[in-house]
Amino acid sequence: MTEEKQSVLIVEDEEDILALLHFNLVKAGYQVDCAACGEEGLQKISEKLPDLVLLDLMLPGIDGLEICRRLRQQEATAQLPIIMLTARGEEQDVVQGLELGADDYVTKPFSVKVLLARIQTVLRRRAEGESVSTPEELVLGELRIHPGRNLVQVAGDNVELTYTEFRVLIALASRPGWVFTRYQIVNTVRGEDYAVTDRAVDVQIAGLRKKLGPCGHYIETVRGVGYRFRSEP
Ligand code: CA
Repeated sequence: MTEEKQSVLIVEDEEDILALLHFNLVKAGYQVDCAACGEEGLQKISEKLPDLVLLDLMLPGIDGLEICRRLRQQEATAQLPIIMLTARGEEQDVVQGLELGADDYVTKPFSVKVLLARIQTVLRRRAEGESVSTPEELVLGELRIHPGRNLVQVAGDNVELTYTEFRVLIALASRPGWVFTRYQIVNTVRGEDYAVTDRAVDVQIAGLRKKLGPCGHYIETVRGVGYRFRSEP
């Protein structure tokens, strides 16, 4: 346990949202810094690396996606946790941002409670390290997955999955609550099955949902963005 406050840099040009975020993050115990445009954000990050960046996508000048790209290209900031703040209708940008390496996103208007939970999750994941160690068993409600044993059970009954379906399920279920773009899912299973394409991901998901029966809805569609495994049954 560290006594030091974790620091968050907010890059947001809308004053109202900036003020709301600043107030709530300080209240939640974070050390908060703000930037009103992309240039200022990059400048502040280069001066002092925060623990996490809340990044608005629509910014005057250098926009959020470009900031994301630049941060990921530099060694010092390649692993810097980034949560994008997006507006409704920006799904294409969300997809691009996630593929550029942003950790997560929240859509405005957002609930402060949800945002704080996302921040905690991202910070915890980063603290646990990047090595995504697959646990021995993943359990959600009636669904049990044993990655090492290639075994999936729904309410105690074995479910027969294809190898690719299994890989897709593990990828999603290993990070419950996280949105994956189709491209990211393809990347996860690539190398094992050449036939996997964006469109094929939808087919795999449809097959998975059907085979998982009463647990099929644990795989949620995130409209315009991709898929997410529920964190609650
Ligand atoms: Ca904006």
